[in-house]
Amino acid sequence: MKSVLALTGSLLLGITVLPVVLAGGDSQPPTACGVPPASTDVVNDTSGSVASDTSVAARVPDPTGCFGSGIIPLDGGWSLPGPRYLIDRNPRALGYPHEGYPAWDWIIREGTPIYAVRGGRVAVVRTWPYNWWNQGCGAAGLNGCETCGIGLAVVDEQGTVWNYCHGSDILVQVGDIVRAGQQILLSGNTGRSGTPHLHIEIRVDGVQRCPQPLLRSLYEYLIGIDPTTLPIDGCSF
Ligand SMILES: [Zn+2]
Repeated sequence: MKSVLALTGSLLLGITVLPVVLAGGDSQPPTACGVPPASTDVVNDTSGSVASDTSVAARVPDPTGCFGSGIIPLDGGWSLPGPRYLIDRNPRALGYPHEGYPAWDWIIREGTPIYAVRGGRVAVVRTWPYNWWNQGCGAAGLNGCETCGIGLAVVDEQGTVWNYCHGSDILVQVGDIVRAGQQILLSGNTGRSGTPHLHIEIRVDGVQRCPQPLLRSLYEYLIGIDPTTLPIDGCSF
């Protein structure tokens, strides 16, 4: 009888937990995996350094289990940067390397709603409404040209800075507190942008981290990754 009850309990647990994980919206309770297990795997690297050869695959969590300290379940604290159905059209784009330094570009039609991947406080709003190349900014960036165009920086609770650039319109102001998943921007082609796209940059203590493993994890497993554990290279060309 006891084992039947235990089985029933675990089934009920499964039934209650699963929709939380799959829905991935706001104001949902943490899953049972919100507490890191005592012993962890590769993602619980406490060395403080991130090896350049750490593969994306090694950092993609097992969706069926609980995870190390570098992995944070999607419990309302995370969001994809745009509508899922648009990412569905080319999920490989989540892994594309960025030119020159760690960041991520998503080529997307102007006017696409852009969501905060992580909640936090809007620290900077950028409002340069022109396109770098149309304005003749050149390599040096003359006449007040700004690389980001219309964009913003959100600082999360850990102090990590999340930059979003090249928008066509911004929906928040400096000082606003935004939730993960809140629409903050409409995508565009402002700033130093050769084609309409969204640019995302994650800075931990001023150092750019690779958004790609995080975005892939959010898309495939609805699970976030602590940005302080993201690699600092291997995602640019
Ligand atoms: Zn970029």
